[in-house]
Amino acid sequence: MRLMDLQQKIKDSDFNPEQAHGYFLKLIEETGELSEALRKGKTGQPDQEHLKGSIAEELYDVLYYVCALANLHDIDLEKTHEMKEALNKIKYG
Ligand SMILES: [Mg+2]
Repeated sequence: MRLMDLQQKIKDSDFNPEQAHGYFLKLIEETGELSEALRKGKTGQPDQEHLKGSIAEELYDVLYYVCALANLHDIDLEKTHEMKEALNKIKYG
């Protein structure tokens, strides 16, 4: 799945401008859960049975709220990636 497809999928099921603050707080919460998973070393691609609390799950949760926030602000993350790559190429060669 492309990032733009994931962004659209999340937008289709979870787009609520009144939740802007809530999405941000969830992003911070999920970042904390990612920190815990990293600390506990729950690394690698888990199978379905071992997804809960893994780094993979928490990375996805963070990505979900990044996408939800991008949607609220009408930001295309793939386009932003391309623009940022161009900026970094100038900056770092
Ligand atoms: Mg989580």
